[in-house]
Amino acid sequence: MAENTKIHFEVRRLRLKQTWTIARGSSDYRDNVFVTLERNGVIGYGEAAPNPRYGESADTVVQFLKKAVPVLEKNDWLHLVDVNAAISGLESGNFSAKAAIDIALLDWFCKSHAIPLYQHLGLDPLKTAVTFYSIGIDSPHKIKEKVQQARDFPILKIKAGLENDEEVIAAVRSVTDKPICIDANEGWRDKHVALEKLQWLQGQNVEFVEQPMHADQLSDIAWLRERAELPIIADESVIRANDIPNLARAFDGINIKLMKAGGIQETLRMIWLAKSLDMKIMLGCMIESSVAVSAAAQLSPLVDYADLDGNLLIDNDPFSGVTVEQGKLILPQEPGIGATPND
Ligand code: MG
Repeated sequence: MAENTKIHFEVRRLRLKQTWTIARGSSDYRDNVFVTLERNGVIGYGEAAPNPRYGESADTVVQFLKKAVPVLEKNDWLHLVDVNAAISGLESGNFSAKAAIDIALLDWFCKSHAIPLYQHLGLDPLKTAVTFYSIGIDSPHKIKEKVQQARDFPILKIKAGLENDEEVIAAVRSVTDKPICIDANEGWRDKHVALEKLQWLQGQNVEFVEQPMHADQLSDIAWLRERAELPIIADESVIRANDIPNLARAFDGINIKLMKAGGIQETLRMIWLAKSLDMKIMLGCMIESSVAVSAAAQLSPLVDYADLDGNLLIDNDPFSGVTVEQGKLILPQEPGIGATPND
């Protein structure tokens, strides 16, 4: 198998257009790891967007990928499920690295069959979701500017969870009355404070609130859900499929990300499991390029909400892929995940 196989990975720094601030901290760039899998003249692209919240960095991704190379070299990539199991079993965690491999394998698999991923999954590409556009925490002046720049998006996701929530929302509402959702990124530590925030947000055309409190505070979030009217969506509380049943009492829905799940195959399992529990499903992303965002967009006909704007927040995307028109995700018709290198 190995003689016509080439496996390559490299760290690339993605620069954010604007400093990105959420309740956990600020950043100006992200170091993501890009994977290229080539066999029989067909190339698959993948990407890892490691997030320190889950104990990952570009370094941990590279270390894991080095261990994965021999497994990839000796396995038949047409047997996706077996390869995925072999990679998953190498080490626990490392989900963004596993996602990079799984995305690249599915890209390679679909290109080998000359079909787009949505077609492989039996999905209608016209049923893609409308994506939120995310507004990071900032000064009221900058928030107004960012909201005005996002005028083409019918719904915005506003980051909250710090001291200046009221100021941020007031700034948003001074320039638009369009629907918004709020992502607190675990920022509210006290359940009474969180309840006040949710009650205050109600009546401000808010669709839902994402991860109001820390993932460790599941019973507090369940307490909150019993008292608040706004739907509550899990993000940091949900990583993989086996987390979901336990969350059904505390959350109305879940935010699934390829980078948390460890790839497309686990994301599909999570989508079907959440549907069986009548939970709302959002497909989200980290700060990532058009590789991982395009891969996720291919699955978006299956979900209620998409938050797939990571590639729109960076100014040196090394790939082109999914595009957005008035918020609607437009899938490329190329085989695979639909991502093409820019150089
Ligand atoms: Mg979130």
